[in-house]
Amino acid sequence: MTAVNLLDFDLDALAAYCEQLGEKRFRATQLFRWIHQKGARDFAQMSDLAKSLRDKLAGRAQIQALAIISEHVSADGTVKWLFDVGGGDAVETVFIPEDDRGTLCISSQAGCAVGCRFCSTGHQGFSRNLSTGEILAQLWHAEHALRARLGTGSERVISNVVMMGMGEPLQNYSALVPALRVMLDDHGYGLSRRRVTVSTSGVVPMIDRLREDCPVALAVSLHASSDALRDELVPLNRKYPIAELLQACQRYLEAAPRDFITFEYCMLDGVNDSEAQARELLALVGPRGPAGRVPCKFNLIPFNPFPASGLVRSKPAQVQAFAKVLIEGGLVTTVRKTRGDDIDAACGQLAGEVQDRTNAARRLAGARERAVQIPLVAAPLQTPTSSANTMMASSSPADRPGATRETRR
Ligand code: SF4
Repeated sequence: MTAVNLLDFDLDALAAYCEQLGEKRFRATQLFRWIHQKGARDFAQMSDLAKSLRDKLAGRAQIQALAIISEHVSADGTVKWLFDVGGGDAVETVFIPEDDRGTLCISSQAGCAVGCRFCSTGHQGFSRNLSTGEILAQLWHAEHALRARLGTGSERVISNVVMMGMGEPLQNYSALVPALRVMLDDHGYGLSRRRVTVSTSGVVPMIDRLREDCPVALAVSLHASSDALRDELVPLNRKYPIAELLQACQRYLEAAPRDFITFEYCMLDGVNDSEAQARELLALVGPRGPAGRVPCKFNLIPFNPFPASGLVRSKPAQVQAFAKVLIEGGLVTTVRKTRGDDIDAACGQLAGEVQDRTNAARRLAGARERAVQIPLVAAPLQTPTSSANTMMASSSPADRPGATRETRR
């Protein structure tokens, strides 16, 4: 008999499982707290559970951690884990410490089917969805390993979670939502909805479902100001073009506790970084845009080049000029700090080590070759205006929605 992985359950599902064992809900709550708040794996340790329940669980159930392939700690404190998820697949998880928070960037899939042009994970192709347990095992391990390392006792280390690692979380919806519920549950990790962010490349129907089921903070990988360019950079745009995406964002805000969307924008030299394109963005999210004015902020991400991309990072002066246009147009705009460079944990760098370990990489090697040859529509570069006075935040404060740093998008 295969043991049930209790990391696959949110509290309601765990209560249903305990009920099958003839146990009341409060027993499930106790068990849930032992697993997620205390990081216990051994039922014998769970001293306030009835011995009869511990005996029932032993042999029937387990808390299945992920095997660690490697762990790297950056000089700036960033930690990157490579986890084995079986079958030759591996995923990465990154912890980014800052003065006022600790953010964990979690993977939702092994590989990714969306195939964004600037993303190293996208170049791997898709291998498989992670289960709820595999998504949560990343948080479970990181939280308890960091507590032990930092000596914080029962004090929480991870204050923010961003679903921005490998994969498109909204294409693994049924596993994602229970995992989000555990993150938010007061008996689990107790994170506020404002501190859990789902980042999507724009799966419109699932944005609508998330709004109904679990409206955490939403980040959208935009990366282009026109459908022609976004079709090339984010192929999903051919199915859900910008106007539909912005309308979904507007609908999301009706239910979301946050009052604006974070648009992620990877800065690519000569491709999407002209001031004319910044003005197009202003028009898109402004009152005359396809969805009317969309309350939002922009997060500009310096591209981390990798050989197969054929793309180049925007020059700092151009990033500043671009940001200046957005800021002067009234948009909160930040430029992401690069963290964990020395361990390849910065945005878009995840797939380097993983690539050799995934089935997808081998299977899709040919497809990757072809993808590299897709021509891009290069936008005209404009001469930057003065960057000296451009107001740019290098990081966003804890109370600012979409406060995310290290992502793959
Ligand atoms: S940016 Fe996100 S959605 Fe696009 S290929 Fe990479 S992981 Fe997938």
